[in-house]
Amino acid sequence: MSKWYKKIAEGIPSSSIFKKSIPEGVWDKCPECKTKIKEDKIVFQLFVCSCGHHFRIGSEEYFSILFDEGKYEELFREIVPKDILHFEGPQPYKERLVSEQAESGLTDAARVGKGRMNGVELILVAMDFSFIGGSMGSAVGERIARAIDYCIQHKIPLVIVSRSVGARMMESFYSLMQMAKTATKLALLGQAAIPFISVLTDPTIGGVTASIGMKGDINIAEPKANIGYAGPKVIKESTGKDLPKGFQRSEFLMEKGFVDMIIERKNLKSTISSLLQLIIEKEPID
Ligand SMILES: [Zn+2]
Repeated sequence: MSKWYKKIAEGIPSSSIFKKSIPEGVWDKCPECKTKIKEDKIVFQLFVCSCGHHFRIGSEEYFSILFDEGKYEELFREIVPKDILHFEGPQPYKERLVSEQAESGLTDAARVGKGRMNGVELILVAMDFSFIGGSMGSAVGERIARAIDYCIQHKIPLVIVSRSVGARMMESFYSLMQMAKTATKLALLGQAAIPFISVLTDPTIGGVTASIGMKGDINIAEPKANIGYAGPKVIKESTGKDLPKGFQRSEFLMEKGFVDMIIERKNLKSTISSLLQLIIEKEPID
């Protein structure tokens, strides 16, 4: 159980936990309605402003919100990123990994948890945008691939909460390969008739959208999330046309049929678990 969730359970939210959970610079003001955020209130509201703005949160928060009593077992933590290409840049990748890990306490941008959601046993993968933009390098791809293998082997459903800028440029084609690998694994999951629910959060852009995000049996989005493959700026420059209002937001995508449901964070757990119970009841996994 995460610290902030435990504090909620105890009725005493902590400002230090709150500040760690909310991206720096936005924690004190809602970017949507500009009102000052009261720390204890926003924690109790699962990091959603009264105006409906969903603050970006990480894997620890989703695990706490979605798993029963916030309890889970983390799998595949031993798979860690490596600087395979000796990538240089403003900060060499090897050094960047060390500093990101020290700062975030994470080992990479996605974590795999096994637990129960309203009693349904499942695997939940959640991404951490704070770790190099939630980008999918070889370790993230491998963790997801093994999570899918685990679901096939143990016949339990899969839920992936995506929040990512896409491929990790410092791993070049090793990163791009993860798209094919995870997409292929999801096809095998489908063949095994095991349910996969994809949750798209703000932002889910690039390779993760294409390889995983849009491949759910049911694709759920949080309200007003920015979801797409190429960004609006690139599309506008390529097509030379102005883009429609709300382009690539959850509501626009649902209207166009790319997203099945838009669910507020407070209702995510009950919605996902109800859907899984319905699917499993109708088509038991055997
Ligand atoms: Zn607001």
